[in-house]
Formats: sequence, structure tokens, C-alpha cells
Amino acid sequence: MKIYRARIFTPVADPFTSDVAASYRWYDDGYLAIDNGRITGIGEWGRQPAGDVVDLGREALVSPGFVDTHLHAPQLEMIGSYGGHLLEWLNRYTFPTEGKFSDPEHARVVAKALFDELLRNGTLTALIFSTIHPEATDIFFAEAERRGFRGIIGKTMMDRNAPDFLLENARDSYRQSRELLIRWHNKGLLRYAITPRFAPTSTPELLEAAGALKKEFPDAYVHTHISENRTEVAWVHELFPEAEYADVYDRYGLLDGKTVLAHGVHLTEEELDLLSRRGARISHCPNSNLFLGSGLFKLHRVLDAGVVVGLGSDIGAGTTPSMFTAMADAYKVQQVQNISLSPFQLWFLATLGGARALSLETETGSLESGKSADFLVLDLKATPLVAMRSERASSIEDLLAGLIFMGDDRAVKKAFIAGREVWSAH
Ligand SMILES: [Zn+2]
Repeated sequence: MKIYRARIFTPVADPFTSDVAASYRWYDDGYLAIDNGRITGIGEWGRQPAGDVVDLGREALVSPGFVDTHLHAPQLEMIGSYGGHLLEWLNRYTFPTEGKFSDPEHARVVAKALFDELLRNGTLTALIFSTIHPEATDIFFAEAERRGFRGIIGKTMMDRNAPDFLLENARDSYRQSRELLIRWHNKGLLRYAITPRFAPTSTPELLEAAGALKKEFPDAYVHTHISENRTEVAWVHELFPEAEYADVYDRYGLLDGKTVLAHGVHLTEEELDLLSRRGARISHCPNSNLFLGSGLFKLHRVLDAGVVVGLGSDIGAGTTPSMFTAMADAYKVQQVQNISLSPFQLWFLATLGGARALSLETETGSLESGKSADFLVLDLKATPLVAMRSERASSIEDLLAGLIFMGDDRAVKKAFIAGREVWSAH
């Protein structure tokens, strides 16, 4: 048994719906007991069980690992490709970049860099788009497995409205996705997501194939985009005139509790009602929404409709893998709409809330007995300014706020997944 001594913070309930004081645990001098990769106890120092003690010191804050509910692995190398809104950006930058993943060697280099970046930034669980290439997708899975990462990954499915080198036919897309699903779904910490890019790059046949796969493997995830940008929404109405955007996915059986839809910036009341009834989740990607000028997400409107929301980086439209930035940008996107999110709400969205969005909350997202030991050792002296800010923090709320707005990869000292060290800053 390993006993970590540190300052420890963890959400344990939803601060949007429950009493704030009951939504987290905070130990200014606490212990986290771990046995066999699982958390066996957490509490005030002095009440810890016997075991090998690792004293992390007063400058360390232990937190659950971050959960990124939406990102594109192949787009890592094109972060910061500026100019243009969504559809122009896809054509000008994204599709040529994704085309490079027909080369497995290229995929190998990017896969390694991606998991380095995620772990360096404290992201221990993520829902990830690959490209249409089965071999590249296999490489992303293999690298995630090698690193001990908790990843949900899927081969992108697309058969229209993209350059030829990124198009496939529905039959091959189904067959290759199915093979990857059988190989990787529920293998250790890995899960498979059926991943049609979005309605505009899908023929009805492709969505039908995705739906058939989902029917065959109801436990698999569905990962796609919805209502990111107004021009995109108008285009979906042209391509599928008989339905609203959310209905397009619903009619092919693609909406349930294992479905994660990125963005949802411009959803109608009827669509929100449908998503809520189906239990589908939204990944809110504020950094990306600002970068592409997609719009301002109405968080409370979506939450009030009963839809579960997690935070996503949306690399490469998001300009950093950092969930600190995702939290800070989520705050700012609500601020300009006259709503102030608390540090507890933001930290929840980046950890336990994200785990709920991915239906993984019984496994990860918080530090509670029985869960996998997925946690970060954050450095409260990461930079001179973080040290100064942390020193003057008068409460845990204030301490978290300083990290949310000034934290970055330098604040992540160590990261553990299932009790195993997967990242160390030195
Ligand atoms: Zn995306």
C-alpha cells in the first residue's frame, strides 16, 4: 500500500446541481492511499492506514487527472493555423494535414508527440478522433496502450464533401471500423468510438453503416460534431432537408448515453430536448469556439435541458492541449454572457464532469475509494508568479482560481494512471 501525503482536492458531486460545500473534498494536509492501482482511502493526515509514505510536501496539490472530451490526434501539428471559420479552415488546413496519415511513419511520430503533450498537461483520459486511416488509428491505440493512457479512440468515417484522398465508401468504412472496434474496445483502459466526422461529410449510407455498427456493439461510443457553426448548420439543412441536425444522427440510431457530440453551440430547444431524452452528451470546447469564431456556448441552457456537458480542447482548432486553458476559456465564454462560473464548477467540468460525459465516472474523474488511482501532482510553485499567487490564496477556491488562470504544463509535476507513474516533469 502506498500513502501519498499532500494537499488534496477532489470534486465528488456536481456543483451545478448540488450544495457547493458538499460537492468537493479538500484536505489541507491529507493522505491518499493506493493499493493495486485503486484508491483505498482518502482523508486528513493522521488518520491514514499503514503503508509506504511518500510525502509530497506543502507545495504539491493532488487532484484527479484531467479529462479531455474531444480532440483530434492528427491535428496536433497544425495548432494555430489561423484565418477562416470552420468550413474554410477544414479545407485549407485540416484535410491536407489529415491526408498525411496515410503514412504510418508519420502517424507514429505524431502519436508519440500527442501522448507526451496530453500527459505533460495532466490529461489522463481523452476522447480522440483519428483520421480515416485504419493503420494510423491502430497506431494511436497502440501508443495509448504503451503509455498506459485511458483513451477512447475512433477511426474517422467520411464519404463525401472532402478531397478524394480522405474519402472512403460506406462499406469499407464499416468493415475497417468494425475490425478496429473488435481489436481495441474494452482492451485494458481503451475503448472504441464509432466516429463519423459530422453530418456534412456523411452520406445517408455512411450514417446507416455507423448506426449498424452501433446496433451490433451498443456498448461502443459514438463521437461526432454538432452545431458548431451557423454556416455548417445551414449546410446540414440543405443536405438533410427533412430533419434538424440532431435528428440526422438520431434517425440512424446514433444518439444514446455513449454518444459525445462536440460543440452544440447553436442547438435549438427541440434538439436539446431530443439529446436530453436520448442521454447524449455535449463536449464544450471554448478555446476552439473562440479561435474559429464559432459562437458563445450557452452552458446553462444545455445543462438546464438535462444534457451532460464535459470540456474539450478540440486540438487543433483549440490552440493548446491544456485543460487549464479549457477551464479559463470556459469561464471567459460565460463571463461575456454575464454568468460567472466558480472554480469548483470549472474544476468539476475538467475532471469528474468530463468522466460523467464519457460514462467513466465509476472508474475515474475523482479521488474516491474504489476508483482507479488517476491523479496529478500539481506544483504550487510552478513559476514565480504561480508561487506568489498560491501563497496569498486565502481558500481552496482561491487556490484553484490561481491555477485555472495561470496554470499550464509547468504546473504538472507528476501524473499517475491506475497508480502507475505515467508522467514526471524531471
Ligand atoms: Zn472537433
